[in-house]
Amino acid sequence: MSLSIFDLFKVGIGPSSSHTVGPMIAANRFIDNLKANQYFAQVARVKANLYGSLAMTGKGHSTDIAVMLGLLGEKVDKVNPDNVEQFIQQIQRDKQLNLAGEKRVKFDPETDLVMNFGESLKQHPNGMRLTAYDSAGIILLNDVYFSVGGGFVLSLDEISKTGETVDLGFVEPYPFNTAKELVDSAAKAGISIADLVLANEAVRPNSEDIRQRVLHLWQVMSDCIDRGCAQTGVLPGELKLRRRAHKLRAELVDHPEKSLQDPLTLMDWVNLYAMAVNEENAAGGRVVTAPTNGAAGVIPAVLAYYVKFIPNSNEDGIVKFLATAAAIGMLYKKNASISAAEVGCQGEIGVACSMAAGALCAVMGGSIYQVENAAEIGMEHNLGLTCDPIAGLVQVPCIERNTMGSMKAINAARLAIRGDGEHHVSLDSVIETMRQTGMDMQDKYKETSTGGLAVNAVAC
Ligand code: SF4
Repeated sequence: MSLSIFDLFKVGIGPSSSHTVGPMIAANRFIDNLKANQYFAQVARVKANLYGSLAMTGKGHSTDIAVMLGLLGEKVDKVNPDNVEQFIQQIQRDKQLNLAGEKRVKFDPETDLVMNFGESLKQHPNGMRLTAYDSAGIILLNDVYFSVGGGFVLSLDEISKTGETVDLGFVEPYPFNTAKELVDSAAKAGISIADLVLANEAVRPNSEDIRQRVLHLWQVMSDCIDRGCAQTGVLPGELKLRRRAHKLRAELVDHPEKSLQDPLTLMDWVNLYAMAVNEENAAGGRVVTAPTNGAAGVIPAVLAYYVKFIPNSNEDGIVKFLATAAAIGMLYKKNASISAAEVGCQGEIGVACSMAAGALCAVMGGSIYQVENAAEIGMEHNLGLTCDPIAGLVQVPCIERNTMGSMKAINAARLAIRGDGEHHVSLDSVIETMRQTGMDMQDKYKETSTGGLAVNAVAC
């Protein structure tokens, strides 16, 4: 499997990469398929069926809204979050939608968007079926898609071919599947992990302006932190959770002298960055999927820590940080999972923490062995982390969990930097352990909101 930096980091909207970004992309693909098969002109009605975790936590994760936006032809990286409510209200009122922005068809969200609770498709816990009918009610197209985490989407055909070798039409100079291959290859070439990934990126189609596109990712992350700090009020959903980032920032800015008394104020800043991003994510705002939306605050928070607190930070460092983080994320995507519906929260916060830890270690001057060590520590202490969002909302424990993941990543980088790169547990071992732990985890801890905090904490 070959992955791009821009597969791991995508500009999207909240609150979930697997439950919002993925289903929206799937609906876009369904439209493309209708057009490619010359069915589009005949479509009179569309229907969506959601299965497994997409049904169980679909409401809280805005999967219903994502499907409708995708059918409208809206794109995850372009849709204006401020227009979403108006789009949805119009569909609910008219019981019609403007398919691909071109053609009005019947779609009543009450009956045409079906959450099949307790029913899963056998290939993956995040399944959805999209069906188009003509005016006589005859099925024109019936597509099945799987949102397999981090905004990645596979069709029924694609998921059945997972693992097969495909001709990509390009050859990476430094192909790798495991951490050992990655480290050995970088060591042999005498280059950093970031340079290795950037060299691989350069041979892919549409590889112009890689540096500018990577810096753009940081710009979107940084804008998200700023927006999250500026907003007040409560987050959407039944928890009526108050936003906290704005107040925390005001306290930090209004009392700068306190940071002289308490050096750990630095932690408050990192917590602030993570919280600001995840409050924006919970509100359906613009975020960078990194590598998922639920965990979207960890990498921006640790990168903001680098930019604002590490002396001599610069744009080269930002590119190195994100390229290193992407390399580590690719290892999880290739060998385990970044989907909480498959492996629990260790696949979201755990992976983001591991990516951020290795990346921070790299920009702090760590060797490739120390980077591998930092990434390994970042996951080792997230093993077994379950996904149990209260009321199916990406809010509790998710927002605070990003602050914890960020601090853990910084600590992991520091532990690795203080060592010499030698360590007992390899990154490959910890990734495999994470995968096995995820397979052993009961479904109730895998983004179904049927276990853990989701049943033991009162929702409102
Ligand atoms: S508990 Fe973790 S994996 Fe589950 S929705 Fe929240 S952040 Fe995502």
